[in-house]
Amino acid sequence: DNVTGINTDVVVIGGGIAGLWLFNTLNKQGYKALLLEDETLGGGQTIKSQGIVHGGTKYTLSGNLTKAAECIAGMPQRWRDALAGQGDVDLSDARVLSEYHYLWSPGDIASRMTSFFASKALRGRVNQVKDRENLPAIFRNDSFRGKVYELNEIVLDIQTVVKSLVKGLESRTLKVDWTPDSGDSRLVTDNGEIAFIEHTQGNVTYRIHARKFVLTAGEGARTLMGRWGISEPEMQLRPLHMVMVKHAHPDPLYAHCLGVKTVPRMTVTSHPTEDGQWVWYLGGEIAEDGVERTSEEQIRVARRELAAILPWVNFDNAQWSTLRVNRAEPKQSKLLRPDAAFCQSVGNGIVTWPTKLALAPNLADEVGHLLDADGIQPSDNESFALPDNLKHPQVCEQFWSKHFD
Ligand code: FAD
Repeated sequence: DNVTGINTDVVVIGGGIAGLWLFNTLNKQGYKALLLEDETLGGGQTIKSQGIVHGGTKYTLSGNLTKAAECIAGMPQRWRDALAGQGDVDLSDARVLSEYHYLWSPGDIASRMTSFFASKALRGRVNQVKDRENLPAIFRNDSFRGKVYELNEIVLDIQTVVKSLVKGLESRTLKVDWTPDSGDSRLVTDNGEIAFIEHTQGNVTYRIHARKFVLTAGEGARTLMGRWGISEPEMQLRPLHMVMVKHAHPDPLYAHCLGVKTVPRMTVTSHPTEDGQWVWYLGGEIAEDGVERTSEEQIRVARRELAAILPWVNFDNAQWSTLRVNRAEPKQSKLLRPDAAFCQSVGNGIVTWPTKLALAPNLADEVGHLLDADGIQPSDNESFALPDNLKHPQVCEQFWSKHFD
């Protein structure tokens, strides 16, 4: 048999935002890093996210500055630096959908807003938009009575972020199929360690070695850990039932609508389609509470909610659809929202979940510290590339691509 070795410093398994940001950073630092993906790059939770680079404001809705909010507060600047081409990764080609995410009250919950904004936590991070001409266009309607606040949180077109992160590094990515027996790849373990990954193309078998294997597989971590033979750290899934509405109203909306709970009543982001319309993507309370609803029921609730909070926007000719997606995170005792990017060393591997798209830079930092601690330093990666015959994963489609005409 024709067996060839491929030696790397780090193999990253899973090309969502966590794996991509890490992979790009490691390559820039000079590591021989390889990225393995079994579907499409970004096609998991990442493309289905709302693309908001949270600075933690929504976690302070309870009035307290929680640990989550503290850790995440530094993230918008990391992303802004990257978008300016001056960060640890280069996102200068990525598309910004909105420079700011907003927070608005429909008008009937002013008292709650007062105590919320009185909290020290928010001072300097949230500005009320007082002048009508500075309001996002959608709120410049005579029937709008509420208050609007501008958050220091950018909203991104995630597909362009994914493209930027893999650009120029395609030859260091590998499309894998782990299907037992018929697939082309398998994890070979030895005493609780990952010995190597075996990948077969034609009559050649490649043995991919690494000093560290990093699992950034999102929900897929469970199966991978099963093949590796480890059960810790445990993962939890929190399901969401998102709503998509494609319509021709000219103004986009990027905002959390405040309700009476600590979760926004609705979080809306807007995504431009090729035919000049918008897909509004609806999350927040409606998506968390709507998990048990059928798609039809969920759409009915969404219509009713939108009519209540944006009564002047006409959805008569809109197309509606829903999307079920899980958030994959480390298991927490009471299904609490995890604090920061999670990284845990296991043998010669690291199991990690960012818990938020926004925390991808934090995750790359944490993995960097663990590599340092193990003395794994960059080597010369200038000429590092996979053999030409190996397949590379594609970048994902937009999340709504299969939902509308
Ligand atoms: P994923 O994006 O799921 O990536 C995992 C990748 O690994 C996938 O590409 C998958 O195909 C691949 N994979 C799986 N198994 C294997 C395997 N065995 N081998 C190789 N590859 C494998 N966060 C924010 O900060 N802002 C938001 O606005 C926001 N909105 C959200 C909205 C929704 C509806 C959801 C569900 C989440 C949202 N989040 C948001 C959270 C955010 O999306 C996630 O925290 C983040 O995308 C997780 O990234 P990831 O790379 O860990 O996972």
